[in-house]
Amino acid sequence: MKLEHIGIAVKDIEQSNELFAALFDAPHYKIESVESEGVKTSFFQVGASKIELLEATSPDSPIAKFIEKKGEGIHHMAFEVEDIDAEIKRLGERGFKLIHTEAKAGADNKRIAFLQPKSTNGVLIELCQDKG
Ligand code: ZN
Repeated sequence: MKLEHIGIAVKDIEQSNELFAALFDAPHYKIESVESEGVKTSFFQVGASKIELLEATSPDSPIAKFIEKKGEGIHHMAFEVEDIDAEIKRLGERGFKLIHTEAKAGADNKRIAFLQPKSTNGVLIELCQDKG
């Protein structure tokens, strides 16, 4: 696995795009909404990894609930795998609890699945694989 991106929950993605563009001295390279997750995302390339900003598009979005509970900040870490179906199976067999037991469509042309943070020391972990 390699660290593909870190997801950061933000209240106002337009404002945060400006903030992170100033931080990295480079603009985001894409904005994309994922309706099924109720989020609008933007991506910054930072070396070999990326930063994904996430803004809720509805009050019942997981990002809205996260910000309500914990405020803005690091939401998840995403690891790229070569075969997401095999990894879901392997991790399930090792006793990890998965939020998605089947890979689903995510942002940035990826198939994704999330693990339950309860089974990973409180860290929300996303597995992702390029659709190619
Ligand atoms: Zn992500």
